[in-house]
Amino acid sequence: MKIGFIGLGNMGLPMAINIKKAGFEVYGKNRSAGKEEEFKAQGGKTGLTLSEMASQLDIIVTCLPMPADVEEVYTGEEGLLNSAKKGLILIDCSTVSPGLSRNLYEQAMKAGAEFLDAPVSGGTTGAAAGTLSIMVGGREPIFQKAKPVLEAMGKQIYFVGDSGNGTVVKLINQLMVGIHSQAVAEAYALSRSAGLDNEMLFSILNNSFAQSRIMERHYSQFIAKDTFLPGFAMKLLAKDMNLAMELADSSSISLDAAASVQTLLKRAVQNGFGDLDMSGLYQYQLDREGENKEKLKHFAVFLPMLDADKSVQYRAEHLRFLDERRAAGMLHANGRFADGSGGLVIYRTSSYEETENWVKQDPYIVKGARNYEIHEWDIVLADR
Ligand code: NAD
Repeated sequence: MKIGFIGLGNMGLPMAINIKKAGFEVYGKNRSAGKEEEFKAQGGKTGLTLSEMASQLDIIVTCLPMPADVEEVYTGEEGLLNSAKKGLILIDCSTVSPGLSRNLYEQAMKAGAEFLDAPVSGGTTGAAAGTLSIMVGGREPIFQKAKPVLEAMGKQIYFVGDSGNGTVVKLINQLMVGIHSQAVAEAYALSRSAGLDNEMLFSILNNSFAQSRIMERHYSQFIAKDTFLPGFAMKLLAKDMNLAMELADSSSISLDAAASVQTLLKRAVQNGFGDLDMSGLYQYQLDREGENKEKLKHFAVFLPMLDADKSVQYRAEHLRFLDERRAAGMLHANGRFADGSGGLVIYRTSSYEETENWVKQDPYIVKGARNYEIHEWDIVLADR
């Protein structure tokens, strides 16, 4: 049997190598050529286009980062489904939405091919050791046919029913991975700030109810070594939490803990942590702690209307002034009251005096368009 493998990344490369080691002829394909070279150096074959793969091979496995990458590879103009030979078995190991898995299944059936959603769990160490858990949705006879290839990549292979079910199970897994990752980040940050030895904490938690596979992984492989290269990138976990929350929304279920982890992950990615391993939520926690230590306070500055014409005249200057404060990290939010009675600016500074110093430089105040009132504010965010 000839096998194709598309997406030779942190997971895909070791998975493809394991299929090869199990005795199959494997053709690898990756967006960046370096990974194909690595695969070739380990005995893999390369050089086929997507359409050549779809028309010549028997089984093609995909392991791609984002749902959009999966869509492109399957349904793009040059995609697999356009040239699929009859009976071709397509196996998607990426984490996507159940809707996308079912859609690809239907399109594959129309093209005379077969499709299994087969997301994996067990991380890069499981991928290298061939011990992944694989949860498979689709038609059972096709699952049986593909089993030798799945067994080359994983140890626990589960058939979970209709197309899309494998993806649903995986998203539930990821929901828990996300919550556990944040739990680990908070536990070790708290221990550190309380002056405890993290190694001692780990040895106790690892024998207590707080023990989890995620804690074991995050602490031993990353936090203890103070290295956070993926592994499993935080941006991929952010993607998975978004997919899990979309699934919850479509099932009208509200997931409060997951929602706050989703927000944290979104902010972590926006703040440049996305390429770190997911255990880097710990780093992000420490980073935010550092911010708190600077003891910045919030001041709500009410700018009641004094002169409406001047307010219109100096509005652009006022907004430019605020943009500069925002770029300097001093501004939490700003806005104006729709009834025209004034506006509100929330500053983040160290003191009342510092805030007033800045407010007095605001063109609105300098030009007499507005008055001001400053109040220190205990801010409570809805999604903190
Ligand atoms: P990765 O970013 O390391 O690897 C993805 C690879 O796909 C990259 O080498 C990239 O160049 C390649 N690629 C992207 N678009 C392509 C295209 N159009 N054609 C060919 N190649 C393309 O990601 P990863 O960590 O290996 O994860 C892959 C998938 O597996 C994701 O959906 C992820 O959520 C899932 N997953 C990852 C882990 C993990 O621990 N890393 C665990 C379980 C599941």
